[in-house]
Amino acid sequence: MADFDFDLIVIGGGSGGVRAARMAASYGARVALIEAGRMGGTCVNVGCVPKKLLAYGGHYASDLEDMTAYGWRVEGPARFDWPTLKVAKDQEIARLNGIYDQLLERAGVEVIAGRGAVVGTHRVSVSVSGEPVGREPVGRELTSRYLLIATGGRPWRPEPGVLPGIEHTWTSDDIFALDALPDRIVVVGGGYIGCEMASILHSFGVRVHLIHRGETLLRGFDADLGHELGNELRKRGVHLHLLCTPQRIQRVDGHLRIEIEAGDTIEADAVLMATGRVPNTAGLGLQAAGVELSERGAVLVDDRFRSTCPSIFAVGDVIDRMQLTPVALAEGMRVARNLFLGEDEALDYRFVPTAVFTHPGVGTVGWTEADAARHFDKLRLYKSSFRPMRHTLTGRNARTSMKIIVDDATDQVVGLHVVGEDAAEIVQGFAVALRCGVTKAQLDTTIGIHPSAAEELVTMRTEWTPAS
Ligand code: NDP
Repeated sequence: MADFDFDLIVIGGGSGGVRAARMAASYGARVALIEAGRMGGTCVNVGCVPKKLLAYGGHYASDLEDMTAYGWRVEGPARFDWPTLKVAKDQEIARLNGIYDQLLERAGVEVIAGRGAVVGTHRVSVSVSGEPVGREPVGRELTSRYLLIATGGRPWRPEPGVLPGIEHTWTSDDIFALDALPDRIVVVGGGYIGCEMASILHSFGVRVHLIHRGETLLRGFDADLGHELGNELRKRGVHLHLLCTPQRIQRVDGHLRIEIEAGDTIEADAVLMATGRVPNTAGLGLQAAGVELSERGAVLVDDRFRSTCPSIFAVGDVIDRMQLTPVALAEGMRVARNLFLGEDEALDYRFVPTAVFTHPGVGTVGWTEADAARHFDKLRLYKSSFRPMRHTLTGRNARTSMKIIVDDATDQVVGLHVVGEDAAEIVQGFAVALRCGVTKAQLDTTIGIHPSAAEELVTMRTEWTPAS
C-alpha cells in the first residue's frame, strides 16, 4: 500500500463517507476525506436533523390546543416565532458540524476542504472550494489504493419544459434557510419530504396545499399507511389534492398562481417541489475512470459496493438504493470492514425500518401487503384503528392505525406498519423482532405495556378480513 499517498480517499463528508473514513482509520488505514461544504452531508445540514428539530417545534401547536382539556391555561395567545427556532436549529447544526470535524480528526483522518474529482483509477484532484471552514484549502492531486464515492444526492425538480414556472419554486434546502415563513404554500409530491414538510409547515400556521399525483400518499409504503396518513393530515387542516399534477406556475402581483387540472388554480406565496432526489455524480470524472452510472446518474455497484472500476467504491444516496442515513452508515461500515479487516460480506437489507416524521407519524418495517401478496402463498392480516388514549380527554378527532402481515405457512410476521404518535419509536423495537424472524404466536405471548399504544401490536388476536 506504500506506493499510494493514502489507503482510502473518501469524496464526500456525509453519513456514509464519514463513517467509512473513521472506521477505516480505526483499522489502521491511512485515510483522507475531501468535502467542499460543511461536514455531515444532507442528514446533518439539510435533512434528517433540521427536519426533526422542526418537527419537534411543530408538535407544540397541537399540544397547545390539547392542553386545556388537561387543565392547563396560558394567559394571552401563544405565538410562534420562526426566527427563534431557525437560529436555534442553525446553532445545533453548527455544533454537529464541529463534532463531525473532531471525530474525523481524532480518528486520524486527513480532512481536505475542496471539491474532489476522480482523474484516474487511483487518483483524485482537489480543487479549492473557496470555503476553508477552518481548514487549509488545497489545489493538488492525491493517490490512493481505494477511492470511495460518497457524494450523496440533491433535490430533483422537473425541467421548465415540463412544468413552466419551475424557476419560481423551492426545494427542501430552501425551507431550512428561510428567514420568514410564507403565509400559504403549495407542496408538490406525496413522498417522505412532501408529507413531512406539509405537516411541519401546517403546524407553524402556514396554509398548506399538498398536491400528489397518486391515489394515496407514500407510494412504495403499504397502501393503508398512505391512506390513513392522508386522512389524518386532512383532519388537521392540510388541503390534500390527490390524483393532481401542477400544470404551470406563474408569478402574479407578488404571489404565485399554481394551475392544476381543469383550469383550477391555487394562489400561494411559495411552491415547494418535493419530487425526489438524484445522485450527485456530475463533474466527478467517474465515467472516464471506467465507473458506470445508471440512467439517473447513480454509481452502479455490486453487493460489496465495488463499482465497475475495481479500485473505486461507492455508498449512500449516490448509489440510489435506499436513501436513508442508517443505511448509508451501514454501507460505509461494511466497505471499511471488507477493505481493511479482511472481511468479504454483503449488507443484509432485509427488514430495514423507516419512518416519516409527519404529525401523526408513520413507522414501517417489512413487506407491504401488496408485495407480500405476490411473494407468499397466503397471508393473514391483523389491523387495528383506535383513538389514542390522550385524546379521550382532548376530544381530538385523531386515530392510530396498526397493521401486521403474517406469512400463513410459517406464522412469521413479515410486515408491521403504524400511523400514529411515536410510530418511529414503536417500530424501531419491533424491527429487531422482525429481523430475528418473530412469529405471530410469539407476539401473542409477549405481555404488553399498559396503557400504551404499542401494546396493541401484541394483543391483536382476530384476523382481519375484508368483511371485518
Ligand atoms: P420520494 O421519492 O419519497 O417522493 C417523491 C414524490 O414526488 C412522490 O410522491 C412522487 O410521486 C412525486 N413526483 C416525482 N416526480 C414528479 C413529477 N414530475 N410531478 C409530480 N410529482 C412527482 O422523494 P422525496 O423527495 O420525498 O425524498 C427523497 C428520499 O429521501 C426518499 O426516498 C427517502 O429515501 C429520503 N428521505 C427520508 C426521510 C426519512 O427517513 N424520514 C425523510 C426525507 C427523505 P409518485 O409517488 O407518483 O412517484
